[in-house]
Amino acid sequence: MITQLNSDQINRYKRHLILPEVGMEGQKKLLNAKVLCIGAGGLGCPISLYLAAAGVGTIGLADVDVVSPSNLQRQVLFGVSSIGEDKVKASAKRLKDLNPDVKVIEHKTVVNSTNVLDLVARYDVIIDGTDNFPTRYCVNDACVMLRKPNVYGSIFRFEGMITVFAPHLKNPDTNEAGPCYRCLYPEPPDPGSVPSCAEGGVVGVLPGIIGTLQANEVIKLILGVGRPAIGRLVTFSSLDMEFRTFKIRRDPNCPVCGEHPTITEPVDYEQFCGVPILDPKSLAETEAEVKRAKGGKSEDSGLDEKGLPHGYAYDPDWEVTPREVKSLIDRKEKFVFIDCRLPNEWQITHIDGADLIPLQQLAQRVGELKGKEKEKVIVHCRSGGRSLQFAQVLRQQGFKDVKSMAGGILLWNKDVNPGGPQY
Ligand SMILES: [Zn+2]
Repeated sequence: MITQLNSDQINRYKRHLILPEVGMEGQKKLLNAKVLCIGAGGLGCPISLYLAAAGVGTIGLADVDVVSPSNLQRQVLFGVSSIGEDKVKASAKRLKDLNPDVKVIEHKTVVNSTNVLDLVARYDVIIDGTDNFPTRYCVNDACVMLRKPNVYGSIFRFEGMITVFAPHLKNPDTNEAGPCYRCLYPEPPDPGSVPSCAEGGVVGVLPGIIGTLQANEVIKLILGVGRPAIGRLVTFSSLDMEFRTFKIRRDPNCPVCGEHPTITEPVDYEQFCGVPILDPKSLAETEAEVKRAKGGKSEDSGLDEKGLPHGYAYDPDWEVTPREVKSLIDRKEKFVFIDCRLPNEWQITHIDGADLIPLQQLAQRVGELKGKEKEKVIVHCRSGGRSLQFAQVLRQQGFKDVKSMAGGILLWNKDVNPGGPQY
């Protein structure tokens, strides 16, 4: 417990001390505050940097991930030297360097129903900087149960949103209790219906903007100044440079914060959402990225004798392997080769000789393939899903010999063209 600032601290925080809304008392509140940031990624980086700089005395960071090269497009706390390191560890080093006053507590763990109450109980303010639905519901429920404000932010492509979920606190405008995440979203989305940032992309500066706004809300809550975003959902569109505010209200029938709650302890959130907290595919991608960045040899390519990933459910009626396609090309055999991805994906990496017909345009452009119904047609995409759909449509249209390239260009770039871009 800090009761007095030393002269170094007075110098460090003088821009705060001169603000009447902060002052000596406010700076002591910051130094004595305990804040938990769940997720040390795109949002967690600016949040933790600004909170550490502001002198928030105890910052807990919960994340199991390691830093990979594709994080550096937006996770500004890390550098090339952090690649392969635990995010919580790399963050702690940087934050301690930024401000030695700050105690950083590393929680290298998945936050789930077994540990969330213990974790949340140790902190005053909780920040949701996660990217998956099971953790969002888990953090929300624990915050409601333990009456902790949950400073929420989310990002996707060019859009972000922020609010403070705190049913135990009042919306300063209406004097009503604020809602929780479940009041807004009682049910999780259908598994697979909402693409992640890894699938849909995110403009790198966006988590910087949303995360900084989250840090701002945290500081206001600690100081007890201003109007916290309780009962207000603020959305930001970076393309339109537009903020919009929506009033959001508590649902009296909410199963966790309502009048008669039915959820009084954490549940199995992976089961509730129908998706795992840790996506095995993105974990594998991270591992491969880190390995490549470290110049690791890939003696174990993870591929079988056909050049397919171990356990791949290969269907020879519908698929060809990248190796077979390569040998057709090498033997100069004639076939129609179609890349059914989007033009921006083509620009990242493509195979010479393939014609671009995005799956979305197939209905309009199928005429371009007229007269080739009897020829061999091979379709590829990024990882083999869209090309299979494309092949199915062509067969329905009377094309006799259509196949999808198993594993798409990602597998091609692993097995046939090693070192080619993975995205
Ligand atoms: Zn609620």
